[in-house]
Amino acid sequence: MPSLIRSFPVPHYLPNAHNGVPGTIIDIDAAAVVKPRPRSVFNRRSADYSIKSYKSHKSSKSSSQESLTPAPATLNLQIESPPIVCYGASNESSGALLSGMLWLTVDPWECEFDSLKLTFQSVVSTKKPVVVGCPDCTSKTTDLQTWDFVTSAHSFSHGLHNYPFSYLVPGNLPASTDSQLGTIKYQLLARGTTVAGVPVQFTQEVKVARSLLDRNDRNSLRVFPPTNLAATLTLPPVIHRGGSFPIEMRLEGIVSRTSLTRWRLRKATWRIEERSRMVSPACKLHAHKIGGEGKGVKYEDIKILATEEYKSGWKTDYSNADGKIEFEFCAGIPAYTAATDDVDNGAGLAVSHNLVLELIVGEEYCPRNSKLVTQTGSARVLRMQFNMATTARSGMGISWEDECPPRYDDVPGSPPTYQAFESATQPVDELEISRGSMESA
Ligand SMILES: [Zn+2]
Repeated sequence: MPSLIRSFPVPHYLPNAHNGVPGTIIDIDAAAVVKPRPRSVFNRRSADYSIKSYKSHKSSKSSSQESLTPAPATLNLQIESPPIVCYGASNESSGALLSGMLWLTVDPWECEFDSLKLTFQSVVSTKKPVVVGCPDCTSKTTDLQTWDFVTSAHSFSHGLHNYPFSYLVPGNLPASTDSQLGTIKYQLLARGTTVAGVPVQFTQEVKVARSLLDRNDRNSLRVFPPTNLAATLTLPPVIHRGGSFPIEMRLEGIVSRTSLTRWRLRKATWRIEERSRMVSPACKLHAHKIGGEGKGVKYEDIKILATEEYKSGWKTDYSNADGKIEFEFCAGIPAYTAATDDVDNGAGLAVSHNLVLELIVGEEYCPRNSKLVTQTGSARVLRMQFNMATTARSGMGISWEDECPPRYDDVPGSPPTYQAFESATQPVDELEISRGSMESA
């Protein structure tokens, strides 16, 4: 039976976490597991794009005119694919399909566009920028895919124009995340410019999720020298947020026949920790603040998602050779706790989860042929830590490549075909014969 005294599993911050403690300056390239793509080029270009078009638009007309002139066209996006879920670990996932339609609505009778393009982007933002308020220090935008629908001057008539698009979202993309140190977001950005320089823009966020499929439980063995204690644990391979999972533990080697002592389990505690790491880079303008380009400020944070303490509930058996303690309990992350999936975005944001199990054992002296048991005063804390991958539940979804394509049998009956029309025309041979007979006549 688990004890009634249980700690309230409310997430709280550990002391000495990042709050109030400055981060450490590190070399980004050295810390990067995956080298970031040349994102600044795109970012810079997109920033220039908006400023330039805004300026040219402004300079061509007076400010009062500008506010009154409505945009000649509007853009809209319609996503037709199901929610983006990458099944499996990042190194083996086949990704997910994204498809949809870009709609361009032209209001006047005719409107000429210089460019029209759609971009699928990832936006990684830090909540601890080097310079607060600087957008370039706060977030980095990377273009993952671009569709150029219009590249030279093209005239559109009044009405709706549609452009279909599709993309295989790579399976190694980190899922959309909002942790206490940073965020990872994905978006579709549609941009167009008329020949007059009027920009038209539309943005839609796209959520990317990852789901690890259930596999067989794993067994872990931990030994605690110099004692003979050894703990065997059976753990699930994945933790799903908003649910609990069973853990089976067996502690062996608790009886020492030579020194007539044995270990008694006094207390058992588990907790699930979320470890976040964010490297905040500085923009070119503010790089001097952290000692030059190519450096970033590393922040780390540990958050306890859930914890519980037991003072009883296990089975102790001193009768066999070296004795054993068996204990079964449930751990999990409550649904109301704000937890994120495991992500690793190279030098940017990384989140991982650990299950920490602590057992407090006390030593007892028990002489042979005596029921008198005395505590020796010696105690130990057996601490075990297991890395646990955490994702949302996979549900009923399956990967796109595991879906069965439709077979010929699945195609429904088609509408009735046209019946063959039987004509009463004269066969050609007869015509020729009759003509030949006329000529000979
Ligand atoms: Zn900056």
